[in-house]
Amino acid sequence: MTTTPRPTRLIRLTLDTLFHIDYDWWSKSDRDLRMYLRSQLCAEHRAMYTGDDREAEEIDWVNPETAEVKRLDGMVLQLRTHCSRQPDYITEHTGLVDAAFRIFLINDNQPLSARQLAEQLNRDPETILKTLSGRQIYQGLRPV
Ligand SMILES: [Zn+2]
Repeated sequence: MTTTPRPTRLIRLTLDTLFHIDYDWWSKSDRDLRMYLRSQLCAEHRAMYTGDDREAEEIDWVNPETAEVKRLDGMVLQLRTHCSRQPDYITEHTGLVDAAFRIFLINDNQPLSARQLAEQLNRDPETILKTLSGRQIYQGLRPV
């Protein structure tokens, strides 16, 4: 399947447009994905990843639903198995972009629409769409 890149502004985005974390955006940007991931961890795990470990430590992870084995960044694994289960992983005070990013981190980056994100985050779908479809791309969150 080939997709022709088009300028985002020409795409009509709706509440049902699917978004995901575009890791290509991260690799092309000069931003540090691992630093950002680290900031999504709980305090305990954040202290474990001091930032000296520039290289991703990859661990085999078995998807409990599909039994599919995947190489996962150890930090993401901690996040899925521990940090995301803490009560403060996503709260009403979590910024919208961070909150959406955190959802995609734990759902294996399965695309979701603003409407679906709104349900999971208990926020306003229009605000989510507006934030994610603006000219500025936040943390690689883009339409699929
Ligand atoms: Zn943790």
